[in-house]
Amino acid sequence: MKRTRRDLFKSAAVAGAGAALAGDSAQAQAGPKMLFEAARATIPIVGSSDVFAVRRIYCIGRNYAAHSREMGSDPTREPPFFFQKPTDAIQNVKIGDVADHPYPSLTKNYHYEVELVAALKTGGRNISLDKALDHVFGYAVGLDMTRRDLQQALANEKKPWEIGKSFDRSAPLGPIHPVDKVGHFTQGAISLAVNGIVKQNANLSFMIWSVAEQIAKLSEANELFPGDIIYSGTPENVGPVVKGDVILCKIEKLPDMSVKIV
Ligand code: MN
Repeated sequence: MKRTRRDLFKSAAVAGAGAALAGDSAQAQAGPKMLFEAARATIPIVGSSDVFAVRRIYCIGRNYAAHSREMGSDPTREPPFFFQKPTDAIQNVKIGDVADHPYPSLTKNYHYEVELVAALKTGGRNISLDKALDHVFGYAVGLDMTRRDLQQALANEKKPWEIGKSFDRSAPLGPIHPVDKVGHFTQGAISLAVNGIVKQNANLSFMIWSVAEQIAKLSEANELFPGDIIYSGTPENVGPVVKGDVILCKIEKLPDMSVKIV
């Protein structure tokens, strides 16, 4: 018997429907097959072979008074605001390494911002301030790398400045240190040096909104989930780097994190 393509299609459809009805098709039970696997960002965990799966990267803006002033704002009147980076902005930097970090396209004014990063193990909506830190799995040293010229030009034009902040590899960070090893961070030195010269030098206690307050405030806007990480803002004296520069980031109680601009 000569079978046409149409006949083949019909018989396959009938067989498929029968299998689904009978419930004996593995594919029907498993649901639709994914066309391909999309890359998923993860972060190593110090002292564990497990990794932390990243769901969202939140960043708070202008969270140190002196940095807020250098960006042209009045910190006393400003409620916290947040933006996001894509999860594939993550660049994992090993302890003791100086990782190559590519100078990105489209900018002539590429800035560093050293920040404490909080990684969440649980989430929720409208999280109360006194329960906020219970959601933190651990902390890391991070860089919120910024195409400052694009950020400022777009802001001046009242356009979204996303491309100034949210781009490939714009979120280098060290491994996550679990809270049960390092505790929480309400104070402690935070600094950044370029080629051995200290540029940013402040204390985590200078944050306008603490990590606990950031979690509570953010959970009013979005439901938070395990895998969300929060960049907690940078102190004053942000500035540019060029190819060949080595950035060294320090936060008291955590190992240093370093990248070289290439
Ligand atoms: Mn920042």
